[in-house]
Amino acid sequence: MKPVIALVGRPNVGKSTLFNRLTRTRDAIVADFPGLTRDRQYGDGRLGDRPYTVVDTGGIGESEEGIDRPMTDQALQAVGEADVVLFLVDGRAGLTAADEQVASELRKLPKPVYLAVNKTDGLDPDTALADFYGLGLTELFPIAAAHGRGVRGMITEVLKAFPEADEDDGEPADPDTVRVAVLGRPNVGKSTLINRILGEERVVVFDQAGTTRDTIEVPFVRQDRNGDGERNYVLIDTAGIRRRGKVHETIEKFSVIKALQAVDAAQVVMVVIDARDGITDQDLHLLGYVLETGRALVIAVNKWDGLEADHRQWVKRELERRLHFAPWVKVHFISALHGTGVGDLFGFIERAWDSAFIKLGSNALTRMLQDITHSHPPPRAGRFRAKLRYAHLGGSNPPTVVIHGNRTESLPNSYQRYLENKFRELLKIEGSPIRLELKSGD
Ligand code: GDP
Ligand code: GDP
Repeated sequence: MKPVIALVGRPNVGKSTLFNRLTRTRDAIVADFPGLTRDRQYGDGRLGDRPYTVVDTGGIGESEEGIDRPMTDQALQAVGEADVVLFLVDGRAGLTAADEQVASELRKLPKPVYLAVNKTDGLDPDTALADFYGLGLTELFPIAAAHGRGVRGMITEVLKAFPEADEDDGEPADPDTVRVAVLGRPNVGKSTLINRILGEERVVVFDQAGTTRDTIEVPFVRQDRNGDGERNYVLIDTAGIRRRGKVHETIEKFSVIKALQAVDAAQVVMVVIDARDGITDQDLHLLGYVLETGRALVIAVNKWDGLEADHRQWVKRELERRLHFAPWVKVHFISALHGTGVGDLFGFIERAWDSAFIKLGSNALTRMLQDITHSHPPPRAGRFRAKLRYAHLGGSNPPTVVIHGNRTESLPNSYQRYLENKFRELLKIEGSPIRLELKSGD
């Protein structure tokens, strides 16, 4: 599991600057999703081959005087779920009362807390740190997030506490097992849906459900959509199955960290939405994170039973309006309670998985490229015209088409979208994003 690092600190100490530095995307899979990831609070990063997740907890009292509860519920929840806390202070402003209050809360935590003294550019590091020894935290790092100074060394220290990911850890990953995560806000019907799926006749559930940190993994076998074979599945359940006769149900807090870990562990993500609420901002945020990872995606709009025709129209319009930037995403309407549409979901999951792991030789893909460019050649850019020569499949989940040519950097976005749409159509990619990589030989 990737360690989760929570950033805590007063406004203006440099949390977003550090967040951006720690999560700078090396290979953005998909373009920006307007309105989805604007205020990102969660992001993945990597130091060498060590991945981690960063959470900007935001939410510490604005005023510096007389704060009774320096940390908001949201910040406390994020800190509670994190593996380590990075407490950021401003080396130029010096120690404040709010810093002291936050530090005294953080010292009580049964997890490592590191103190990052930021904005030490142009300051003598020892002098900058001296102010903060009184906070009672032992791990102090002078950094300059804006310039990156000291950041790498600090993260190296932070990650030392966690074992390196062991390739042989756990059971060997079976390449043919379809790993599906079921995600959604509390109460949208995830547990009902999972129980419905596992109760189906075509499903044989195995008993040894493995648990990762916050989720339950249920292996099962199911006949595939043609009925002429079987497929192995693992269902990654973020709701925690309540079928084992649990009487008391606490109101579950929505945990983005838990959701992100499930996305990591999955190949296909099923996001469940409550038709009664339409598509909410929180749903969109969740979708934004899923889309960023490039995972195959199936959206299930649940509680479709007993709705007025007007309301159904409204939900459909809202979905169309708010998902217009990812037209390949398909939406399915179900009732987990009555079982309507639930069996069909597997057809879409299978297709999404098959799309995500499509295999095709370079010759066939290059022929496709030639047909696509022949019917509509790349436009001229100034005196030059990009030449696209050959293509190969560079990766799965999402399927990645690598195109080699000359002057590919001059291809306008509109032509890249054309290529993407054409490849999607010809490769019959459904329920999965597709990624293009352009390589220029000159
Ligand atoms: P946040 O409110 O904690 O998220 O803080 P921001 O990341 O928005 O940073 C607040 C201000 O501090 C911005 O103007 C940043 O440019 C500035 N800042 C952040 N890191 C550094 C740094 O390392 N050195 C200096 N001099 N300024 C910084
Ligand atoms: P979770 O928190 O996402 O796991 O949601 P639950 O499965 O616990 O469901 C929350 C509530 O929604 C329960 O009262 C369910 O009975 C109800 N519910 C779930 N699916 C449906 C559905 O398809 N139709 C209707 N009308 N109610 C549903």
